[in-house]
Amino acid sequence: MASVLILGGGFGGIAAAVSLSMRLTSDDPITLVDRRESFFFGFRKTWAFLGTSPLAEGMRPLKALERHGIEVRQGTIESIDPGSRSAVVDGERLDSDAMIVALGAQAKPVSMPGLTEHGLNFYDPLNLDAAAAKLAAFDGGRVAIVLPSSPYPCAPAPFETALLLVEYFSAKSVEAEIHLYSPKPMSLPVLGKASCSVLEERLSDRGIVFHPMHTVEKIEEHKVRFETTADPYDLLIGIPGHVCPQVVVDSGLTNGGAWVKVDSRTLETGHDDVYAIGDVISIPLADGKPLPKAGVFAEAQAKVASARIVSRLTGEAPTAAYDGSGYCFLEVGHKEAMLVSGNFLAEPHPDVQLTEPAAEHFEAKGELERSRLSEWFSA
Ligand SMILES: Cc1cc2nc3c(=O)[nH]c(=O)nc-3n(C[C@H](O)[C@H](O)[C@H](O)COP(=O)(O)OP(=O)(O)OC[C@H]3O[C@@H](n4cnc5c(N)ncnc54)[C@H](O)[C@@H]3O)c2cc1C
Repeated sequence: MASVLILGGGFGGIAAAVSLSMRLTSDDPITLVDRRESFFFGFRKTWAFLGTSPLAEGMRPLKALERHGIEVRQGTIESIDPGSRSAVVDGERLDSDAMIVALGAQAKPVSMPGLTEHGLNFYDPLNLDAAAAKLAAFDGGRVAIVLPSSPYPCAPAPFETALLLVEYFSAKSVEAEIHLYSPKPMSLPVLGKASCSVLEERLSDRGIVFHPMHTVEKIEEHKVRFETTADPYDLLIGIPGHVCPQVVVDSGLTNGGAWVKVDSRTLETGHDDVYAIGDVISIPLADGKPLPKAGVFAEAQAKVASARIVSRLTGEAPTAAYDGSGYCFLEVGHKEAMLVSGNFLAEPHPDVQLTEPAAEHFEAKGELERSRLSEWFSA
């Protein structure tokens, strides 16, 4: 009998637990720990913010994973000891033979001073209803969407939100001028210059003004201050910077860096039988930029880590390796989406493309959610 402990019941943790449950016997206990009671897809936040569909429609109880033979523990992980593959959850120590750390990225709104007081933060589920109500009450003017300097989950989401807001305001006959500010020199640097130009042209075609190289310093009432300039706004939407959860930093798994360092192909942390996956890790790409934070990457990494654990527990040499391929849908409105896809770990630079908008990519996004909710929760 061998036990596996999965820390975090988000996209990556659930994918790992289900994958393990299909490969291990019922004699090998799999425990998944999360402080939350339920799971929903990240893009549900955008849909709830824009009133497209309520969060609750895509929410499923983690306890439903028990049908796979997974033990679900609801609680707060207070400390992690990678050396002994153990964690303390609400004061109780849990030991394991193999451990997967999938604790995600933690929003840090204070990294964008003034956001909490003056802006809308739809990345925070606790703020989502209030943010959606303020957006619904907005009767026109200048809208600022402000991106952080530090990484955040789903890099395309704010660009998607800007494009969807055009449709949202148009449907309500609200006159709005949308400005999108990023500290980066181009919209989605991982795409490369040519694809960024395509995206930026689309933004421009829709009347969205993109301001690269704008690092926010402070948000004041009706004014956002950047390093060298300040712009007015009537409604501000801020994407908070994210950090590695403190409990992971305290465990030593970040080795003094900002995120957990892993072998990019095996997801090994350097501690025997301890893996880390998803938003909590940072994998440098060939061009020096980090692998974007997205659920589909977390899921692919979960499958690799799970396969390697099963091989180790059954006495075989692990061969599963993460190949770096992944994709993401970028909705543009009118039930169409662009597809960002490719091999992010390709050499000598990431091989990532952006397609033209198509109804089939929009449908595939809905299918992504439907298929995972069905596979994981059978609902
Ligand atoms: C607006 C938006 C749109 C997005 N769209 C897409 C998309 O289209 N495609 C895509 O692939 N990705 C998308 N994402 C990104 C995706 O949601 C994340 O990348 C993904 O959830 C990361 O998975 P993870 O398992 O690493 O972390 P998470 O899913 O964040 O899970 C981490 C879990 O750890 C738990 N946890 C953390 N600390 C503790 C603790 N101390 N004790 C107990 N539990 C703890 C949390 O409660 C959480 O459930 C989107 C995100 C957002 C915000």
